[in-house]
Amino acid sequence: MKWGEAALILSGALVGWYATRRARIDLGAPQKGPSSDYLTGLNFLVNEQPDRAVEAFLRAVALEPDTIETQFALGALFRRRGEVDRAIRMHQNLVERVDLLPAFREQATYALAQDYLKAGLYDRAEKLLVGLAEGGPYRLPALKDLVLIYELERDWAKAIEMHEILARSGKPDQAIALAHYRCELAELARRAQDFAAAKAQVKLASAGPRQFPRSVLVRADIALDEADATLALSLLRRVPVESPQLACEVLPRLVRALQLQGQEERLPAVLAEFAGEGSEVADAIAHAAILTGNAESPALLHVLRGYYARDPSVAELVQALSADRTPDDAAVRALARALRRQALQVARYRCGDCGFSASTFFWQCPGCKSWDTMKPLGPGEQGGSLRS
Ligand SMILES: [Zn+2]
Repeated sequence: MKWGEAALILSGALVGWYATRRARIDLGAPQKGPSSDYLTGLNFLVNEQPDRAVEAFLRAVALEPDTIETQFALGALFRRRGEVDRAIRMHQNLVERVDLLPAFREQATYALAQDYLKAGLYDRAEKLLVGLAEGGPYRLPALKDLVLIYELERDWAKAIEMHEILARSGKPDQAIALAHYRCELAELARRAQDFAAAKAQVKLASAGPRQFPRSVLVRADIALDEADATLALSLLRRVPVESPQLACEVLPRLVRALQLQGQEERLPAVLAEFAGEGSEVADAIAHAAILTGNAESPALLHVLRGYYARDPSVAELVQALSADRTPDDAAVRALARALRRQALQVARYRCGDCGFSASTFFWQCPGCKSWDTMKPLGPGEQGGSLRS
């Protein structure tokens, strides 16, 4: 156990003891100090000996079953040690006690909800948290936990509802999360061919954060579904420039839009617009062409050549393979195919917040649940453990 975790449990245990003592004073009951076993348990926690702390707390509970603070400390310890069944039993016993003061019942109910969350029993956690979210000291933490549950269950409408209640309670507006929920709802409506509802959700998403490329991509998808290639092209134009990390999302849509118009030959001209915006954008497009299997297009030969020359690891490879250092078209394509095969075998995206790696793109990191943190890895950065 890390010191930070021990300190958290320790402070929880002390608060529990103090609250019990306050409650006894309020009820006019005789005041009692903490038992020696309880203090021994705390001492073991301070000295990072959680096993001995558990033993001491269990002794304290056996000798004096009414020591609520000890039971809270034990329950929290069990949960943190991964012994969720024991934590659930401990907190369930507290919740079911008829003589428990309302403040302790709420504390025990919230602790039990945390146990259920840790155990992945989201429906049971939700039931308890919905009750706690109605009012009382656990209202705001319960609402935040409910957001987490509804995100995991992909119940976007309820997640929006929880954020709106939190915002009305003075918590900061989570504009990016809300815009993503709207886009999720738009995609659901689009798949159900309800384009009017999908457009309405995109409009709400676009009204949120100042720059929100996902809503542009979803709107372009709706336009493509409705065979409006002109609108799709005009929407997609700015995305690679403003968000080069999304080039892999844009390129296949651009190709589809041009195919709809029967003008695939315009791809070089369209891409030249982006490539002229600087090497970061040009490299992102070249990398996207490799990863999405679009490197065979004559339109991309020029972009790929520039990328091969700029990326140090790829440039070395080209120099080793090509004596005159200027690979012909066939060599450029062969190298793109080899890079793609290599890229498909390893992680292609990594979360900038928690380091979670994945082979496919996610708007929300499956590891830490942050939005917009998954970034594509260049061929030189790829590798590491693949966790998806
Ligand atoms: Zn993450």
